[in-house]
Amino acid sequence: MTQRIRDSRRVRQVHGTRRPRPVRASERAAALLLVPAAAGCATAPPTVPPPVRTTAIAARAPMFAPGAPGVGDPYFPNAGNGGYDVEHYDIAFAYTPRGRRIAGRTRVTATARQGLSRFDLDFVGHRVRSVTVDGRRASFTRRGQELVITPPAGIPAGARFTAEVAYAGSPAQEKDPGLGRTGWIPTSDGAVTLSQPTGSATWFPLNDHPSDKATYALKVSVPKGLRVLANGEPDGRPARHGGRTTFRWRSSRPMAGYLATVAIGKFKVADGRTRDGLRTISAVDPAVTRDPAWLQRTTGAVTGWAARLFGPFPFDSTGGILDDASVGYALETQNRPTYPGTVDTGLLVHELAHQWFGDSVSVTRWQDIWLNEGFATYAEWLWTEQHGGRSARKTFEEAYGRPANSPDWKVPPARPGRKAMFDTFAVYTRPAMMLHVLRTRVGDAAFFGILRAWTAGHAGGNATTADFAALAERETGLELDRFFEAWLFTPARPRQSEIPS
Ligand SMILES: [Zn+2]
Repeated sequence: MTQRIRDSRRVRQVHGTRRPRPVRASERAAALLLVPAAAGCATAPPTVPPPVRTTAIAARAPMFAPGAPGVGDPYFPNAGNGGYDVEHYDIAFAYTPRGRRIAGRTRVTATARQGLSRFDLDFVGHRVRSVTVDGRRASFTRRGQELVITPPAGIPAGARFTAEVAYAGSPAQEKDPGLGRTGWIPTSDGAVTLSQPTGSATWFPLNDHPSDKATYALKVSVPKGLRVLANGEPDGRPARHGGRTTFRWRSSRPMAGYLATVAIGKFKVADGRTRDGLRTISAVDPAVTRDPAWLQRTTGAVTGWAARLFGPFPFDSTGGILDDASVGYALETQNRPTYPGTVDTGLLVHELAHQWFGDSVSVTRWQDIWLNEGFATYAEWLWTEQHGGRSARKTFEEAYGRPANSPDWKVPPARPGRKAMFDTFAVYTRPAMMLHVLRTRVGDAAFFGILRAWTAGHAGGNATTADFAALAERETGLELDRFFEAWLFTPARPRQSEIPS
């Protein structure tokens, strides 16, 4: 957590403008004490305060400035917002199939990191009905994806505050150049959300950047016959009233905004325990398959396998959501990945490995997304190797066999650029190759020691490429600068000398 704050501050200093240091509430109180408390004095009170004290009050007056419209991520300049950290989202809405509409509100509890005269949330579409800050009506404007909120009074640095946004609309999908449709995806019987990297703003207002993780509560009312799946665990039993059912879910572990999900449909649901005693909730769309047993069983087995390699499962429940949506990719939505249309064991291994790599340990900036995809890809290689399939070494050799002049080697994994941030070879395969080479060089005990130190050291937080390189050097005692330079930062195929035999 400390790491995250330091990193996000550094990003802001590089990309934002310097602001005057805001005055803390305690200082403001001290300044107010300087106002002559003369009303009750027996002697004649001065009609005006002494000039020197007036000056002191003016100099110490609280200074408030607008929060930045982004956290300073070079790949997504407007993603997230500056000036505050969110602790908790409380999202409540009703879904109406006719017109595919939602209506509700989101309550954001945050702490100001500067004196705020105004601040932004990321939110697209919908009609915003009202905004309040700490229960008082706030004014707002919309500028693209920015919902710009001006509270009735400035928010002092360090103060905790709650912003509540009431809204209604028909959520619109986003289009990501690398992925296609993201955000709120309508399905034949409801909707599902797949929000990497910035789709969550299509269905609730948030600080939409993985550097600001928070806990979540979700309350969704749907017509009778539909069910609602989400992250975390159910918070009580579904409540029925007037032909509608209300589902509540709660995520008490920090979650990046893009991993928040809701799935609405006629799901068949299995709710049980893995062999290790972990709660597992799996849901399948009957249009795909009527029986959640395979998904439930395999999820339990893979979760247990991964925990033995990567360290304890980082959340309070696992599972999966298989929905009839043709978006062409699955997503590691926290606790239970979402599989659109189809799923197989390899895909399940990949998305469940993300629970450690990406969900629990999240990127600080999107440029480092190989930290998610390289590990999840290598987990697939490991699963295959340990279950009678091809060895990781063979998979590595096949990938390395691409000609040195192939354009695939031109994209450096830790600096892929916005357009290539989901490049299958550069961001998924090549970092997995790097991990395999590292494992070969240091041996299994040291390699899995690094992985477990990584998942333990940053659990529930954020990390960077530099953090991983430093950890690998610390754990092995090796000087690995040139190794990481060759595998992660160089737009060329690493030389054979970077591959131990
Ligand atoms: Zn992935």
